[in-house]
This record gives sequence, structure tokens and C-alpha cells, in this order.
Amino acid sequence: MRKLKNLTLRQLTLLMSVLVVLLFLVFYFTFKAFWSFDQQVTAVTERQKNEIERVEILLSMAERELQTSLEDYAAWDSMIEFTKNPTKEFIRDNIGPHAFESKLIDGIVILDTDMRPIWSGQYQNNHVYDVNFLDMPRRSESNALLGHSLLSNAKALPSNHITSAVEYTVFQNRPYLISYAKLCKSTGYDCQYGYLFFIRQIEPQFISDVEQATGVGITMRTFFDTDLQIAPPNHSFIYKKDALDQDILAIDISHPEKIPEFLTIPEIYALSSFAMIMLLFNVGIVTFMIRPINRAQRALTVFEQTGGKLPCENSFYSKEMRSFARYINKLISELEDKSEKLKWQSFHDPLTGLANRRGLYESLENYISQQQYQYVAIVLLDIDHFKQFNDNYGHMSGDEALKKLSKALADDEITMEKIACRYGGEEFCLVFFNDFPINIEKQLHIIQRKVSELKIRHGYSPVSEQLTVSIGATTQIVEDYRDIAPMFQRADEGLYEAKNSGKSQYRIR
Ligand code: GH3
Ligand code: MG
Ligand code: MG
Repeated sequence: MRKLKNLTLRQLTLLMSVLVVLLFLVFYFTFKAFWSFDQQVTAVTERQKNEIERVEILLSMAERELQTSLEDYAAWDSMIEFTKNPTKEFIRDNIGPHAFESKLIDGIVILDTDMRPIWSGQYQNNHVYDVNFLDMPRRSESNALLGHSLLSNAKALPSNHITSAVEYTVFQNRPYLISYAKLCKSTGYDCQYGYLFFIRQIEPQFISDVEQATGVGITMRTFFDTDLQIAPPNHSFIYKKDALDQDILAIDISHPEKIPEFLTIPEIYALSSFAMIMLLFNVGIVTFMIRPINRAQRALTVFEQTGGKLPCENSFYSKEMRSFARYINKLISELEDKSEKLKWQSFHDPLTGLANRRGLYESLENYISQQQYQYVAIVLLDIDHFKQFNDNYGHMSGDEALKKLSKALADDEITMEKIACRYGGEEFCLVFFNDFPINIEKQLHIIQRKVSELKIRHGYSPVSEQLTVSIGATTQIVEDYRDIAPMFQRADEGLYEAKNSGKSQYRIR
């Protein structure tokens, strides 16, 4: 949290933008996953399932059709007759090319009740050849086409009525359907006269017919059970166990409608462009917004050093910032006023408005060190018997008298530079500066005249009916500020002497 606080506005915005983009992506993907994408996948999966079902129906129709053909031949008294007395004529007349072609079969095997071959033939190039399927090896190390397991399955069929079965196998890399039944009487009952096998190669033509009917792509695959595979995406396998061994015949269905990708390349482009635009936009906006804040900060730094104000409130871009700038500027004005007042107060006496001692020394230094006035006169005044004045007329009247006197002392009748200062309680100090020698006596007369013109009644003063002052003064050429202290000393001595000599008079030292 502390680290966050130390980031700049721009960094914070960048961070916020990244968070907003991440949040957006989370919402986007969540919505997509649980809503639209899920629906799409369900719909496609449903359609793919239907495609599988259609293929399965066509396969089972082919199986059923083969079985029906087989059952026609298996439940036939003439066939039973043939098993007892095999003749070439029967084969020629009943199982000629016509039978193979019309039933779409590639091989026929007739076995006796002990499973010994009576006749077996293969149809190839419009001819029927005698072939012993029982001896024909499927693979060098394996059984013949009609291997042991198939024979025992046939043996297990019921013997009371015609029943057929159909199984798949792969022979010399070609897929085959083998249907078999026990030989029965034409009635369809009493099945104990031998066995009949129909072998049909699953032709490429059949596969392309199924493809056309269902709209899917079909490839036949054989897996050994050890390398049995899961169908890749958008493919489905219909597994058929090989009738003869551990192989698995897989009908690989390639679905035309694909499960959509969760994230497509254009989508990635769109999302990343959106993120970039959003980032740049936010950073741009913030840069735009914080420019006046930075200016305000610089202005505050300048203000701290030399005074001044924030940029005009109208240069800020938001209502909040404008009001902020307005308040800061108002605050700065108040601060300036206050500090001006404080400064004035620290250099002036609040009652009379004259400079206090601090103000006096400050001005003195300026007049002497900066403006380099050579001629300086110092005049110290003290009101005579002011305690009696206060005691008899009250402190308020005392204050009034102090104010009137101060005003008179501050009044400028002359062209000389002058500081008037309240030096202490009822003591005042006047300092004159000039580029020529100062006629101090003239100034003291002026002061005395001004005081007497005030006509402040002091009925309790032993020296006069009116308020009077005693004055000590001195003047000299000043080369350095350090010359001032001895002058005060001398003026004070003059004042002391004036007091001691009966008051209401001046002494120049
Ligand atoms: P002296 O002629 O020897 O100067 O006698 P004094 O009474 O003027 O001098 P002293 O130092 O005894 O008394 C000074 C008086 O000045 C005492 C005090 O009440 C009065 N005083 C000092 N500051 C103020 C002020 O601000 N207002 C009023 N009303 N009186 C003040
Ligand atoms: Mg005094
Ligand atoms: Mg006095």
C-alpha cells in the first residue's frame, strides 16, 4: 500500500488501466466460456453426435442386410442337401457369380457340423474361385481368416431356429464384415446341418456412399489394443472389435463442423489492440489532466521561495481541480495578508502605529548600510510625569495621549528622512538622516512646538499645566552602523540630564 502511495499519477493510471484491461479480459473470457462458447460447443457436439448416429445406422443397415442375405441361404433344404452330397452343379447353379454380386459378398464358406470345410469360394474379377479361407493366414503369425474364435462363436449360436451374427475383421489390411449362421431347414427351425459364412469386404465405394449420405469423412483404421487411440479433436471413432484377435477396427469419422477455437487469432489481435488503445488513451488523458497539477506544484515551490500564486483556475481541466486551485489561491492570498500583517506587527507598536525597537533597528541598518546616509541625529523623548497622568486621568486617557503624541511625532514637515519609534512605555525615539549636516536644534524646537500644540492637559504635572516631554539628542557623521550605539548612549545621557534639570527641556550631547 505504501509503495502504491509513492507512485506518480501517471504510474497509478497505468496500473489502473492494466487492472481494468485484466478485469475486462476476465469478464470477457468468463462470459465467453460460460455462455456463448459453451453454447456453441454444445451445439456442435450435438451435431457431431447426430453424425455418429447416422453412420452407425448405415453400418447396422449394411450388417442387417448381409445377415438377411445369409439367412436366406442358411435356411434352405437344398443347402442341407449339399452338405450331405456336395456337387459342383449346386455351386455352379446356386452360388455362381450372380449370388456373390447380388448379395455384394466376396467370400462364402460352408462347413459341416464338425466345422470341416465342405466348400469355400472367393469372388474376384467376375469369377468364383475355390479358396480355403480356413487355411488362409491373416498375418504370418496369426490364424486363418476364419480363425478359431469366429468358429467357436458360430458354434455357440442356437440350434433350434435360424440365428445369424455379424462381426468385423481386418484381412490383408482391408476391413471385412463376416456374417454367419447355422444351416437350418427351410422352415427356419432345426439348425444342425453345418455352418454358412458370408464374407463381405467393406468397399471404398460403400464408405464413400456413407460419406455422401451423412456428410462426414470416413477413414478405416486398425489399432492393436495396445495402441488404442483417442480420437483427435473433431474426429470420432466407432470401435469394432476384430472378430479374430485383439485388433480394434476404428471407423474414423471426420466431422465437417468443427468445435470452435476458444480464442481465435483475430480475437487475440482485437483484444490486444483494445488493451493498447485503452492504455494509451488513459495515459494520454492523465498526462493532459496532470499538466496543470504539475504547474501548480511548481508554482507552489516558487511561492514557498518567493511568493506568488497557482496558475489561473481556468487552466485546470476538471471542476474539482478548478475549485482546488481557487481555494489554494484564496488561501495563499490570506496567508500573504496574514504574513504581511505579522511582519508589520513585529516591526510596529500596535497602540501608536509607530515602529517598535525592532523596526527602528531594521530601518536604521537600511538607512546607514544600504542608503549610506552620512549625517544622523538621534532624539530620545520621555513624557514628563506620565505616571501621575495615568493615575489621575486613567489608563485610557494615557493611551489617548500616547497616540496623539505619536501622531505629532510621525508628522513630516521636513524633507529629511526620519524614523519615528515608540522606544518604550512613554519613551519615543526620532532618528533623522541627511546628506548634509543636520540642524538638530531646529528639529528639537519643532518637536517641542508640536507637543505644545497638542495642548494635552496635565493638571498634576509640577512643571506645566500641559503634557510636556524631556528630550536628549545627539548628531554626528556616521560611517558605520556600529557608530549608532554610542549615539544612543549620548542621547540617553542628554535625556537624563534634561530630566534632572527640571524636565520639559532638551539637551544636546
Ligand atoms: P518622569 O517624568 O521621571 O519620566 O516620570 P514618569 O511618571 O513619566 O515616569 P515613570 O517611569 O515613573 O512612569 C512611566 C509611566 O508611564 C508608568 C506607566 O503607567 C506609564 N505608561 C507606560 N506605558 C504606558 C502605556 O502604554 N499606556 C499608558 N496609559 N501608560 C503607560
Ligand atoms: Mg520613562
Ligand atoms: Mg516619563
